[in-house]
Amino acid sequence: MNESSSCLFCAIAQKKINAQIVAENSSVIAFHDINPVADIHILIIPKIHVRGVNNINHNQADIMGDIFMMAQELADKYALKEHGYRLVVNTEAGAGQSVFHLHVHFLAGCEFSWPPGVSLSQK
Ligand code: 5GP
Ligand code: ZN
Repeated sequence: MNESSSCLFCAIAQKKINAQIVAENSSVIAFHDINPVADIHILIIPKIHVRGVNNINHNQADIMGDIFMMAQELADKYALKEHGYRLVVNTEAGAGQSVFHLHVHFLAGCEFSWPPGVSLSQK
């Protein structure tokens, strides 16, 4: 069994598992996170299986651009272009990635703090 055949987000992209889809085009799909941590919490994923940022090939650069264009489309849809929003990409378990199909968290409608992580030496 290859990685994509058991992948939750591939199943969502292929409509084998339901999700609340908010936007879609030929290369990417955006849907509400099942466990939102902000009033607006949408996941943007490529339709093709890519494990994470470490696994992007140069020939997939267009699709990665399409993900950011989708973020812009969502910002427009939710009238957030002026106020702002946050995009987060957790990469590998040490950074919080729990679903190993590349996804961008589109977050808005909450207070954002910075920095997002605390250095272990400051704990
Ligand atoms: P990560 O922790 O990998 O950065 O983000 C994975 C996200 O996927 C989490 O925010 C989690 O709530 C969301 N998620 C996990 N399973 C499902 C699901 O079956 N449907 C949807 N819509 N989101 C999911
Ligand atoms: Zn996948």
